[in-house]
Amino acid sequence: MNRSLPNVILGGYGTSSTGTGKPMEITGTHTEINVDGTVDLIEDAKNIIIVPGYGLCVAKAQYPIAEMVDLLTKKGKNVRFGIHPVAGRMPGQLNVLLAEAGVPYDVVLEMDELNDDFPETDLALIIGANDTVNSAAEEDPNSIIAGMPVLRVWLAKQCIVMKRTLGVGYAAVDNPVFFKPNTSMLLGDAKKTCDALLQNLKQRTEEEP
Ligand code: NDP
Repeated sequence: MNRSLPNVILGGYGTSSTGTGKPMEITGTHTEINVDGTVDLIEDAKNIIIVPGYGLCVAKAQYPIAEMVDLLTKKGKNVRFGIHPVAGRMPGQLNVLLAEAGVPYDVVLEMDELNDDFPETDLALIIGANDTVNSAAEEDPNSIIAGMPVLRVWLAKQCIVMKRTLGVGYAAVDNPVFFKPNTSMLLGDAKKTCDALLQNLKQRTEEEP
């Protein structure tokens, strides 16, 4: 069928530029945040959307994140997961991992079910996802992923991206979201980071009067 694997997976995106010019240059610097600062934002947020990707799968971060979501839901927060149709490396991978970790089905939504909700979302937590949240798909007509449907995490009031570096994902396209003023990078292995977030949140909860 003469189509490369990325072409098949991305449905025609990720193989050639759809525009006539060069892809947009990413300018600006990224901002980093630590675990304590992230938990401050989590505690302040009422509406939270978590977007998991391949990095969550390899790190096996679904267990601490499931426990954290349970804790936050008990505190009255509206916490939901947004799953991109090609998140991870095989269809349904994220849904299976989250279900295995005990995340209730009713808070795990498909991209189209919540993609319009980001402007009313206080905090988007992106855990090991990259291509599936790449704003270049919507903002750069010359990007090789131009037109690919993505989760619009950058429209949330605050975005925290958890991954190890500022590097690219499967489609090898730089992600402008990492450099936006409302994004902070929480760098490190997703399992270690999620374990630390959970411990910090539990400790604060125990200390509550
Ligand atoms: P991506 O592959 O775009 O990004 C995953 C990110 O996870 C990487 O940028 C990497 O960044 C980070 N990561 C890797 N290991 C860790 C770790 N231990 N801790 C924290 N972060 C980590 O993933 P998405 O899920 O967003 O997108 C899936 C991609 O895979 C799409 O391009 C899709 O087309 C493709 N694909 C999907 C298939 C499917 O059926 N679902 C099949 C084949 C391909 P860093 O190295 O900086 O940590």
